[in-house]
Amino acid sequence: MTFEQFNLHPHIATAIHEQSYSCPTPIQRQAIPHILSGRDVMGLAQTGTGKTAAFVLPLLQHLVQKPDRRVRALILSPTRELAAQTHDSIRALGRYTRVRSTVIFGGVNMNPQIEALKRGTDIVMACPGRLLDHLAQGHIDLSALQTLIVDEADRMFDMGFLPDLRRIVRQLPVQRQTLLFSATMPDEIRRLATDMLKNAVTVQVDHTKPVEAIAHALYPVPQHLKTALLKVLLKSTATNSVIVFTRTKHRAKRLAEQLNRSGLRATSLQGNLSQNQRQHAISGFREGAYQILVATDIAARGIDVAAVSHVINYGMPDTADAYTHRIGRTGRISRSGEAFTFVTGEDKAMILAIEQTLGEKIRRVTLPDFDYAKAPEKQERPAQAARTQPRPRAAKQATGENKRSVPRRYS
Ligand code: AMP
Repeated sequence: MTFEQFNLHPHIATAIHEQSYSCPTPIQRQAIPHILSGRDVMGLAQTGTGKTAAFVLPLLQHLVQKPDRRVRALILSPTRELAAQTHDSIRALGRYTRVRSTVIFGGVNMNPQIEALKRGTDIVMACPGRLLDHLAQGHIDLSALQTLIVDEADRMFDMGFLPDLRRIVRQLPVQRQTLLFSATMPDEIRRLATDMLKNAVTVQVDHTKPVEAIAHALYPVPQHLKTALLKVLLKSTATNSVIVFTRTKHRAKRLAEQLNRSGLRATSLQGNLSQNQRQHAISGFREGAYQILVATDIAARGIDVAAVSHVINYGMPDTADAYTHRIGRTGRISRSGEAFTFVTGEDKAMILAIEQTLGEKIRRVTLPDFDYAKAPEKQERPAQAARTQPRPRAAKQATGENKRSVPRRYS
């Protein structure tokens, strides 16, 4: 199947060609005809499947004939990065159209956003918190809205945004097309879909099974040797860009500093950064100034860097779905990639859950020249040594370290 079959406007077709998309991905093949026909759609697809273009292309087709600078489409995203990236996709695919889009998120000055809204825009890309601020202050008129798109709805839920989302939906025209995209379908998202969608068609691409092109490997290692093993692996493996996942913000920051000290080009992305620092880290990573990005799950959500060849789970993900999300960062579309996961004795149950999701046993790898018996560094002070030891999960939850127990707002 080719993009011609969708009969998209020539201005859109030219942009698709420029992006070198030769044929639609499965989610695009399934979703685009329904969205073009005006149906509500529940799309089950993870990042990396081409889901953004699956809703951006028909949206542009609806707007291309008569952009009128009244907000006719609203796209809601859980994170600023995802909002900014979707905005970039709209700009790339809509560059030959006169459709205008504006992105709205927190952590930055409101005034440029107010100015852009005053000038008029056809599409608004927004994170829920800041959008509610604009709505409360009367900066945005959504009375002409025709299409609502909720992207990564399951992450919205994880991050505690569902009440905000429902508050926004109550202020929208009832007559509209609604598209809901989610990588997974927990009960809360099922309920949300029932409440928000009318006569919807569900389209689904293997949402729990990651892209086939990824090779998975487990690296058993004592907790105190993870950093040493990471350095050896990074120096001995031919990699393109690498994302290293940690469980905590503190660890992400410290690990990036340690990698830098040993001569690797690394930066970190975690919740404690200012908006400018986040943008610096993301663009530095995307443009290759940093080869390694050390990140927490939430901070890395939605990051789209085409050249990611390796995902390394320094800290085990909380769930098998989180594993799928993380490695969705590599092997995107038809590119291949590798996913390495460092495992300690306490990760057995999670390994089993991940292997069940993948439907395969993951190979265990040990490096022949690595000293796995090495004792922890002697000079470590007792307090630091205690911090490097694996703590029971219950203790992590009590300190708020488990992200899922403490939803954070990023908009
Ligand atoms: P997404 O799942 O929307 O995050 O998209 C993942 C990546 O796939 C992005 O870099 C897109 O530019 C790219 N992409 C989207 N559609 C296609 C396509 N039909 N062919 C090749 N790449 C695509």
